[in-house]
Amino acid sequence: MSVETYTPRAFHRQAHDALGNPQIRGNFRKAMDGLMAKRRDVFSDWDLETLRELGANIRLRALAKLPNLLEQLEANCEANGIRVHWAEDGEEACRIIRELCESHGAKSVIKGKSMVSEEMHLNAHLEAAGIEALESDLGEYLVQLNEQTPSHIIMPAIHLNTDEISDIMHEKTGTERTRDVDYMTAAARAQLRERFMNADVGVSGVNFAVAETGTLCLVENEGNGRMTTTVPPVHIAVTGIEKVVEHLRDVPPLYALLTRSATGQHVTTYFNMISGPRKAGQHDGPREVHLVLVDSGRSRIYQDNELLDTLRCIRCGACMNHCPVYTRVGGHSYGTTYPGPIGSILMPHMLGLEETKDLPTASSLCGACGEVCPVKIPIPDLLVRLRREAVGEGRGNVPGAGVKRTKKEVAAWKTWQWLATHPSAWRGSLLMAGKLRALTPSRLGPWTQYRTALKPAKRSLHALVKAHRREGEDES
Ligand code: SF4
Repeated sequence: MSVETYTPRAFHRQAHDALGNPQIRGNFRKAMDGLMAKRRDVFSDWDLETLRELGANIRLRALAKLPNLLEQLEANCEANGIRVHWAEDGEEACRIIRELCESHGAKSVIKGKSMVSEEMHLNAHLEAAGIEALESDLGEYLVQLNEQTPSHIIMPAIHLNTDEISDIMHEKTGTERTRDVDYMTAAARAQLRERFMNADVGVSGVNFAVAETGTLCLVENEGNGRMTTTVPPVHIAVTGIEKVVEHLRDVPPLYALLTRSATGQHVTTYFNMISGPRKAGQHDGPREVHLVLVDSGRSRIYQDNELLDTLRCIRCGACMNHCPVYTRVGGHSYGTTYPGPIGSILMPHMLGLEETKDLPTASSLCGACGEVCPVKIPIPDLLVRLRREAVGEGRGNVPGAGVKRTKKEVAAWKTWQWLATHPSAWRGSLLMAGKLRALTPSRLGPWTQYRTALKPAKRSLHALVKAHRREGEDES
């Protein structure tokens, strides 16, 4: 199934198709239930709130000092022998990476997982220049074989089940059709191993860039990150400017939050700290290490006191795993690099709010995303803020803000606002709604296509509580 890039129309159609596809819904339901349970279990013996508070404060402090920390990071990386490059946007970052590859005569690039590289469509850019770019994270490898994009920021191939993976590997790499996961993993491992050995350049992402030491931290489970950053003669790390942290001691709490929130693990199998190229007398490691720091709208977000909070994100994916919208429609429905709650507050800055005004509405505002976010990003508040800007209210800082509401919408919301601020009228309308409940339509357009229409209760909660109290008094 090919995935269309986000447009409001494509988003609606893809979400509609996903809702009507039991296979997709089943795959997501199973995967997300498992991830939620793992996270719950792994945090059960922790003082989660204290750790979240600490994580949020570390990120807030880093963002408060961001310009200085970026300069410090650059100076310390350069002192370690890591060449630092600055890119205003994805296009410039692609150009820098392509030119670095060309300067080494590179024909083949092996990649570790990097959402920023997805954001800037690096693979397509390199391939257009005749440089083959192969994903080495198993999930990314599978979606690349299947000519798709990741459907989740941590588990890119989570939309695929065992049979589908078997079919993809059989068709694209000639492996046997099987349900034997070990066989498929071993086959992918052998295929990738050869590519690692022959790659001219390795490209990876960065989880945390430590300003005080000029160290790049990379969190992973498969060892492909370590291979990508150590086997090819040149390593290029690419990351957004917000990934910087001040001290090395800031990393362990963020790492603890990231692994537990993302996959329910106490620690990941690999934690890599890259502090420069191979030194004289060392037998392995890349001869050159580069760091490409990408802005792509982040400076604009940085100037807004509320939206600045989105830059705290450590890309754990927990908000997606717990979102009742994402877990039903899956990541591909959005057609954006970052799907789910975090995507709905990040993508408007990257693509413009007018083009993405439907994204902040793809939420029930249940608050689950905000509750699980390990760095306490107030996602629901930001969704409401973007919704207000999308309909022409608020400060309009986001590009494209200020789209007008329809007359019907204005009338409906004004009525609701008036009722909600006049308690007697509110109670009267609830009473009437209860009495007329039999007349409530069972179909309310697209709203009830996949939901049962709600009927007003026969008696309001207030009435039930009052009756309950009366009964209590009578008994006593
Ligand atoms: S917004 Fe929070 S929960 Fe969502 S990916 Fe970022 S850090 Fe994780």
